[in-house]
Amino acid sequence: MNDCIFCKIASGDIPANKLYEDDEVLAFWDLNPQAPKHFLVIPKKHLAGPGDAGEVDDILIGKLLRTGAHLAAENGIEQFRFVVNNGEEAGQTVFHFHLHVLGGRSMSWPPG
Ligand code: 5GP
Ligand code: ZN
Repeated sequence: MNDCIFCKIASGDIPANKLYEDDEVLAFWDLNPQAPKHFLVIPKKHLAGPGDAGEVDDILIGKLLRTGAHLAAENGIEQFRFVVNNGEEAGQTVFHFHLHVLGGRSMSWPPG
């Protein structure tokens, strides 16, 4: 997608502070962190969000979760929260699937 900011980060057209990258996924620190540790894990393939994923994406989505957990551990984030927003009402502002990984502070429930 030419006008997608996360596709541009995935292709290297826009810089990001990366934690990890391979052929399928990319992880980078959030520009506007909502916790002391806050990074995003995205598929390089453009999917608008989980509502846009098909059965063909099952392994990729599993990899996003596993990558998020591994990178959290590698960065000293032992306890963390995963968040995936799908749709404007849910708080999604970038319409390219991304897993938020937040840690380094106590979290409340329910989320706002
Ligand atoms: P959403 O609200 O869609 O679930 O989350 C989008 C996230 O992407 C936000 O936390 C926002 O701070 C982050 N973000 C938006 N644009 C950029 C960018 O250009 N670089 C980085 N590193 N993060 C971004
Ligand atoms: Zn995209």
